[in-house]
Amino acid sequence: MSLLSVIVPCYNEEESVELFFDELMKNKPFFEENDLQVEVLYIDDGSVDKTVSEVKKLKQRDDCVRLISFSRNFGKEAAMFAGLEHAKGDYVVIMDVDLQDPPSLLPEMFGYLQEGYDSVATRRVTRKGEPPIRSFFARCFYKLMKRISKTEMMDGARDYRLMTRNMVDAILSMREYNRFTKGIFGWVGFRTKWLEYENVERARGETKWNFWKLFVYSIDGITAFSTVPLMFASLVGVLFCVLAFCMVVFVIVRKLIFGDPVSGWPSLVCIMLFLSGVQFFCTGILGQYLAKTYMEVKRRPIYVVREEI
Ligand code: UDP
Ligand code: MG
Repeated sequence: MSLLSVIVPCYNEEESVELFFDELMKNKPFFEENDLQVEVLYIDDGSVDKTVSEVKKLKQRDDCVRLISFSRNFGKEAAMFAGLEHAKGDYVVIMDVDLQDPPSLLPEMFGYLQEGYDSVATRRVTRKGEPPIRSFFARCFYKLMKRISKTEMMDGARDYRLMTRNMVDAILSMREYNRFTKGIFGWVGFRTKWLEYENVERARGETKWNFWKLFVYSIDGITAFSTVPLMFASLVGVLFCVLAFCMVVFVIVRKLIFGDPVSGWPSLVCIMLFLSGVQFFCTGILGQYLAKTYMEVKRRPIYVVREEI
């Protein structure tokens, strides 16, 4: 018999905990047919509502439920990492509790593992029900990443992914503090089958991500998986040197031929403002990488457990 670990990060999801479990257990006949034992790991990411007591209630109903509760909100990345660390399964799957990752896909996903894939990943091909501006920036992010990073990142990829123990161990060996799981999945490689499905809207409750949180998360993604922005400063520097050289030649030639006095204060001020803008921008990029390095060398734990059942 093999064990399947289902990792479910939850942050203020009291309404969804039981609903998710029931939906997952609709696959029970499939699990039994395939000799699969199931453990459901709820990772409570410092919820301030009744999420923990809901999970405890569920634990009394079914012994396959496990709970890991954080001392505060550490973010979904930390929750997923904790789940992977505590999962004992031969197979591991990460799922959102809000039913946006349909549990009904699991049998099909298992089919592909049997065919020899190491991991089955999902991506949504539509973004129905999402604010258009959010979709637009998400698309821009993936396009940018395709250009500046060697790590493969799929547009619309979800964290919903079924993996073999091999792949989980590889992910756990990456102990970085600034985690960007979508990149980490791509970085470790392995044979991955992509399943596509239409976006499903949240069953209950509200999304925990606002635009600003997503923006900061995208910066995490860029700094974690690309160093191209660091090259930007050098490139702009070279470009401006060439430009400056051309202008020097132009001014000298103009003086020799027409004997023009130096003029053009307004244009000078514009150029100075523009250049200092570019310089601050480049310093900012440097600062981003330095900040990430600073957090990384501190070697703080990725999460702190308050309670484990
Ligand atoms: N989540 C979490 N910690 C957080 C934010 C979210 O564990 O700080 C969980 C949340 O409970 C849910 C999953 O991550 O199970 C996805 O979050 P959400 O549905 O809010 O994101 P969206 O689907 O809108 O991208
Ligand atoms: Mg969701």
